[in-house]
Amino acid sequence: MAKWVYLFKEGNADMRNLLGGKGANLAEMTNLGLPIPQGFTVTTEACTDYYNNGKQISEEIQGQIFDHMKTLEEIQGKKFGDTEDPLLVSVRSGARASMPGMMDTILNLGLNDVAVEGFAKKTGNPRFAYDSYRRFIQMFSDVVMEIAKPKFEAILDEVKEAKGAKFDTDLTADDLKEVIAKYKELYKKEIGSEFPQEPKDQLMESVKAVFRSWDNPRAIVYRRMNDIPGDWGTAVNVQAMVFGNMGNTSGTGVAFTRNPSTGAKGIYGEYLINAQGEDVVAGIRTPQPITKLEEDLPECYKQFMEIAHKLETHYRDMQDMEFTIQEGKLYFLQTRNGKRTAQAALQIACDLVDEGMITPEEAVCRIDAKSLDQLLHPTFDKDALKAGKVIGEALPASPGAAAGKVYFTAEDAKAHHESGERVILVRLETSPEDIEGMHAAEGILTVRGGMTSHAAVVARGMGTACVSGCGAINIDEEAKVFSLGGETIHEGDYISLDGSTGKIYVGDIKTVPASVSGNFGRIMGWADQFRRLKVRTNADNPADTANAVRLGAEGIGLCRTEHMFFEPERIPKIRKMILSKTQEAREAALMELLPFQKADFKAMYEVLEGRPMTVRYLDPPLHEFVPTDPEDIAELAKDMGMTPAEVKAVCDGLHEFNPMMGHRGCRLCVTYPEIAKMQTRAVMEAAIEVKAEKGYDIVPEIMIPLVGEKKELKYVKDVVVETAEQVKKEKGSDMEYHIGTMIEIPRAALTADEVAEEAEFFSFGTNDLTQMTFGFSRDDAGKFLDAYYKAKIYESDPFAKLDQTGVGQLVEMGAKKGRATRPNLKLGICGEHGGDPSSVEFCHKVGLDYVSCSPFRVPIARLAAAQAALNNK
Ligand code: PEP
Ligand code: MG
Repeated sequence: MAKWVYLFKEGNADMRNLLGGKGANLAEMTNLGLPIPQGFTVTTEACTDYYNNGKQISEEIQGQIFDHMKTLEEIQGKKFGDTEDPLLVSVRSGARASMPGMMDTILNLGLNDVAVEGFAKKTGNPRFAYDSYRRFIQMFSDVVMEIAKPKFEAILDEVKEAKGAKFDTDLTADDLKEVIAKYKELYKKEIGSEFPQEPKDQLMESVKAVFRSWDNPRAIVYRRMNDIPGDWGTAVNVQAMVFGNMGNTSGTGVAFTRNPSTGAKGIYGEYLINAQGEDVVAGIRTPQPITKLEEDLPECYKQFMEIAHKLETHYRDMQDMEFTIQEGKLYFLQTRNGKRTAQAALQIACDLVDEGMITPEEAVCRIDAKSLDQLLHPTFDKDALKAGKVIGEALPASPGAAAGKVYFTAEDAKAHHESGERVILVRLETSPEDIEGMHAAEGILTVRGGMTSHAAVVARGMGTACVSGCGAINIDEEAKVFSLGGETIHEGDYISLDGSTGKIYVGDIKTVPASVSGNFGRIMGWADQFRRLKVRTNADNPADTANAVRLGAEGIGLCRTEHMFFEPERIPKIRKMILSKTQEAREAALMELLPFQKADFKAMYEVLEGRPMTVRYLDPPLHEFVPTDPEDIAELAKDMGMTPAEVKAVCDGLHEFNPMMGHRGCRLCVTYPEIAKMQTRAVMEAAIEVKAEKGYDIVPEIMIPLVGEKKELKYVKDVVVETAEQVKKEKGSDMEYHIGTMIEIPRAALTADEVAEEAEFFSFGTNDLTQMTFGFSRDDAGKFLDAYYKAKIYESDPFAKLDQTGVGQLVEMGAKKGRATRPNLKLGICGEHGGDPSSVEFCHKVGLDYVSCSPFRVPIARLAAAQAALNNK
C-alpha cells in the first residue's frame, strides 16, 4: 500500500518534493529536537491522486489521514472532537516552492458547539475559547467554503459597535457567542446547511480545499510568473494548535535571520502579544519589532535567538520563521529560506561566502536570476526629487522608485496598464486576488500591513516598489479618492513612491535607471567564471549597445536593421524604398539610406570596441512600415512626385493578409537584391573604416533572416559576397567576414544539414520559430493565451519561455544537423527566450555557443548560464 501521510518525525528536509517545503522543514526541525507542535503531512502525491481521481480523496488516503490523526491524539494526549479537552489542529498548504497564491491557513480546526464549551472550561478562559471558535468559523467559511470575508467582518464590526467596543479584545465571551450565532446564520444562508459540527468532516473538507487551491486562478498566475510546473501539486500539513492569544505571556510573530530588504545580518521581524498568527500576516494590527520581545519575555527571546541561529547555520541560508508563544512557552511553526529582494539576495550570498558558510558556486546558484531585474530598477532623479512634495511616509516594503496614476482596484490597474499608462495601485490592504493588478503596477501603496504583510512580501518578490502600512491615509475606495498630508488624490492623479525610503510624493517625479555595484559585480564575476555560454545582446543603436556592454554583453547577437529606420527623419526614406516601383527608384531611395546605415554601424562598432556584432538584414513586416496616416501619405507623395491617391493605391497593393508570414526577411532580398547590396556596403565600409581608425579586430557577421531553404540563402549570399568583395577591393582591404542565417522557419530547422552548407553560423530566431511551430500569430496570441492558461492547456507563454517539448526539438535538431555538416558551426539564439533563465538552461544543454537578449536581461542571462553550467555538470 502506498504511503500517503507522514508524521513529522518520519520526514526530513530532503523530502521536499513529497512533503512540500513546509512539511519537509517541519520534519527536519522535529529531528533537530526543536520545540515544534507535532503533526503530519499529507503528501503532494496525494494531491496528484486527488486530481487524477476526478477531484476525490481516495478511501485509502482518507484512512491514512485518520490513522495519523489517532497517532497525533496519542502524542498530544487529547482527542479530536473531545467534548472536554479537544485536540485542535491547524491545516496549511505547502508546495515544493512557497506560493502566495494558494490557500494559506485554517486555525483551531476541531471546535464545534460542544467542544468549545469543554475548551472554555479546560482553559478556564471562555473569552479565549469563543474567540477561537469564531475565528475558526470565519476562516473555514472563507477559505474552504469561499464565503466572502467582508461579510464576516461586517458582523464583527456590527457587534463591536453595538457593544461600544473599540478593539476585538474588548468583546466579552458573551459578545463573542453572539458573533458566533450570527456567523452560523450567515453560513447557513450562504451554503444552505448548518456549519459542520463533525471534526472529521471539517478536516477532510479542509484538506480538499488545500488541494483545490493548487489550481485556483491566482495560483496559476503565480506559477506562470515563477516557472513552477502545474503537475507538482501541494502537500497539506496538519499540526496541533498552540495558542498565541492566551493572554499577555502569549504571542505570535514572524522573523528573518537577516533583513529581507537589504540583506543586513541580524534578526529582523515583528510580533504581536496576545494574538493568533493571522493577525500578524494579515496586517490588521500593527506589530512590534521583534527586539521588543527581549523586554516583554526575555527568556523566550533568548531561546528564540538561539534557535534562529541554529536554523540559519543548519540550512546555511537566511531563514524566515514563524513562532508562537503559549503562556511563556516558545514553539516554532515554520522555517524556510526567506524570500528577499535581489539586493538582499546578493548581500546575503556574498556574506555567507565570507562567513565560510557556502562556496562561490553555491552563492551563484542561490540567486534567482530573474530577480536581478529588481536591481536594474529606477530611482528618482535627484533634482526632480528636490522639488517633490512629500505627503506621507510609511514602511519601505519593497525598493525602487515608481511614479504613475493612482487606481484603486487591481482590475483598473491592469486595464490602464494595458492601455499604456504607468499606474500605482492604492489599496487598503492587498490580498492574493490583487496579484495581476500588482503585477501591472509600477508601485503599490497600502494603508494597512507591516513588512511581512501580503503586499510587502509579494511586491518584494516581484521587484515592484511598495510602500505599506500608511495608516495616515484616509481612503474611500468606493469613491476612488484618498487624502494624505493635506492633499486629495483622485483616481487618475499622479503620485510617486519610494519603496526604499517609504516616502510618498504627490505628482509625477522623474525616475532614472538603476546602477549596480559591489556585490553585484562580485556575483557576476563568479558567474562569468562558471558559465560556458557566451552572452550577447539584441541592440540596434549605440546607446542600447553601450548599456548592454556596461551590463556585461560580449557582443551583439542581433542587430535588427529595420529598427534603425524608426526615427521620424528616417521612416519616410525607408517608405520611399518600399513604395518604389522601379529598380532605379529603389536604388535611389537605398542610396539615401546608406549614409544613415553606415554611420550607425560605425558608431556601434566603436562602442563595441572589437566585440562581435551580428547584423541581421532587413526584416520589416510591411504593415509596420507602410504609411496609413493621410498626412504621412501626402508628404510621401510630395517627396516621390506622386499624388496621394497614387501612393495610397501602392500601399493598398502592398496590403498583406498575414504580414508576419508575408514579404519580409530574405524574401525581400530575393525580389530586390539591391537591398542586400546597400546593407552589405554599409556594413563592410563601416567595419573597414572603424578597423582602420581604431584598430579593432572586426570580423563582420552578416545574418540573413527568414530562410527556409538552402538555395534561398545561397541566392542572397551570392549578392552579399559580390558586394563585399567589391567594397574590399575599393578600400584595399582583406577583411574577413562571415555569412550566416537565422533558423526561425521550421523548414530551416528540418533541413539544417543542407542550410549549414551555406551558413557559417546559425542564430535561432525562436520568436518566429515559436510563431510558426505553434501556428500562433505572435502579434495576436495574447488575445487567446489567457484562455489556454485557464483551461490548463498551456502553463506559460511560449513566446516568453521556450516550449522545450515542441519548439525545443526543432532547436536541438537544427543544432545537431547543422553541426553534422559543419562541426565548428557557431550557434546562438536571439529570440526573446535568450533572456529567460529556463530557456537559457535549455540552450546550455543543447550545446549552443551563446544566447542573445535585450540589454537589461544580460545579467540575468549571465547568471542563468552559470547556474545551467553548475547544475548540469
Ligand atoms: C526571431 O524571430 O526570433 C527574431 C529574433 O527575429 P524578430 O523578432 O525580429 O522577428
Ligand atoms: Mg524573426
